[in-house]
Amino acid sequence: AHVRRPMVAGNWKMNGSKALVSAMTQSLSEVSLDNVDVVICPPMPLLACVEPNKFYLGAQNVSQYDAGAYTGESSTSILSELNVRYVIVGHSERRELFAEDDQVVVQKVQAVLNAGLTPIVCFGESLKVREEGNYLEFLYAQVDAVLNGIGAKIKDCVLAYEPIWAIGTGNTASPEQAQQVHAKVREHIAQEYTDIAAGLTILYGGSVNAANAAELFSQQDVDGGLVGGASLKTDDFIAICQAAN
Ligand code: PEP
Repeated sequence: AHVRRPMVAGNWKMNGSKALVSAMTQSLSEVSLDNVDVVICPPMPLLACVEPNKFYLGAQNVSQYDAGAYTGESSTSILSELNVRYVIVGHSERRELFAEDDQVVVQKVQAVLNAGLTPIVCFGESLKVREEGNYLEFLYAQVDAVLNGIGAKIKDCVLAYEPIWAIGTGNTASPEQAQQVHAKVREHIAQEYTDIAAGLTILYGGSVNAANAAELFSQQDVDGGLVGGASLKTDDFIAICQAAN
């Protein structure tokens, strides 16, 4: 039995199309997934043509600013108008390719929470950090940056452990590796926020697919998945959702 309600979120990254929106919406309408929250995160422009039905809509990014002269950016209020409920914040691709540091991540998490939306806050170590052996300290520091910014509002967040070495590589963390980090991070948060930590949804992300999802999600502290590549194929994505259901 699940202690926490499972969630599966599909991060399309800069992929997909209006046709995929239709196909995914149709496919999800045909299956029963009553025990899992399903979130679809398509690219920004496609948000406007999704009618969430049996799933929630998520954005892959958001501006930390409310409104104004920020060419190319999208605000929480615009996302809310488009029925967005979740926003991925701090994805490693945003951190690495778009230079988002912990400070920006915290500002975005605060903006999302202030708008009444739920941030899916990503954290994860590189292969170098893992091999050096001090990855738990590294991960605690990433999580602490958020905790220091929002305190007990962490209860309104979803966390996602995404080891960078597992993202898009086919090199999934083993169920034991995922469970270790999820349990340790939950324990770490529990030092200050005991009750909140027990109820916190912590997703695993990094080469989740239809074949490995069930074993990952069966781990005690793994509450579902954040899925990249496999979220672009309707059959695979539904199989992953069913594995969490
Ligand atoms: C991701 O980028 O959030 C992700 C988990 O990607 P993939 O599933 O393709 O590894």
